Amino acid sequence: MTAGGTGAITAIATVLGGAPGANVLLPRPGFAPYEAACELAGAEPRFYDLLPRRGWEADLAGVRAMADSATAAIVVINPNNPCGAVYSAQHLFQIAETARELGIPIIADEVYAHMVFGGSKFVPMATFAHITPVITIGALSKRFMLPGWRLGWLAFCDPNGALKHVRNATEMLLNVTSGPASIVQAAVPKILSNEHNEFHRNVVNLLESAADALYRRVNQIEALQCYSKPHGSMFMMVEVNTSLLFGVEDDMDFARELIKEESVLVLPGSVIGLKNWIRIFFGAPTSVILEACDRIEAFCQKRAVQVKLLKKKF
Ligand SMILES: *Cc1c(COP(=O)(O)O)cnc(C)c1O
Repeated sequence: MTAGGTGAITAIATVLGGAPGANVLLPRPGFAPYEAACELAGAEPRFYDLLPRRGWEADLAGVRAMADSATAAIVVINPNNPCGAVYSAQHLFQIAETARELGIPIIADEVYAHMVFGGSKFVPMATFAHITPVITIGALSKRFMLPGWRLGWLAFCDPNGALKHVRNATEMLLNVTSGPASIVQAAVPKILSNEHNEFHRNVVNLLESAADALYRRVNQIEALQCYSKPHGSMFMMVEVNTSLLFGVEDDMDFARELIKEESVLVLPGSVIGLKNWIRIFFGAPTSVILEACDRIEAFCQKRAVQVKLLKKKF
């Protein structure tokens, strides 16, 4: 057990990335703490692409091309933050086969485990641990909505014992660093029990309606486009056509001006590796999401009018 999912990320990056010259394969767009944890451990982060027009699947040809003998692991986030993708068993199998060819373990970030909808099914990466070892990261922060309790974990699924030394080193590291508060640890068995099915069902239903509404509304806004509807997590990636927006050069301008004028916060894609995209959070009531979309649309319309006037003038 670790201090949040983030504690699990730092611990495993410290152990696996600590070898001299090591590199770790990370998804792009991704989750920023992985890059920071690699750099702290002295490992080189290498970014493989998630493909927007292929349901944000991993570019496995790219993965093979960038891996070498110093590659320590590949990180796979499923259900995915920031894209909202949920990978099929078939794609997870392909990832496992690729990792086996490269002789590396998979760090499976499943902080959004079971938070899937729209007919998608969550398949744990550990299903394929007989192909290559899997280290799963979980947390209470998202599915159980207890972000402030700071409890996460690492689960080793390593049927052939290939990671015995990694596991020992991780245990030693966790023994000398401070973990989650004992009071919180004591609550874990109850939280993980099956008593809360109704709570989880309600959360997933709310996320599904919010995702549907967001997807429909965003694609009605001329300057924005989302290529694949989210099937899990709480996030959607949207491409911004800045040529249609007066005074907006890039995603950073878009996010900065939007919060100034309309008090709507989106994450500029540049900070997670994808320029001129934005990440929108949809873990809110549908009425709030629709209000946010109205404001984003008003923001874009104001600028579109100015683009038209500008074109007329010249
Ligand atoms: C939120 C999150 C985590 C863990 O966050 P904690 O708040 O530290 O539990 C890990 N991975 C991803 C992809 C996340 O979105």
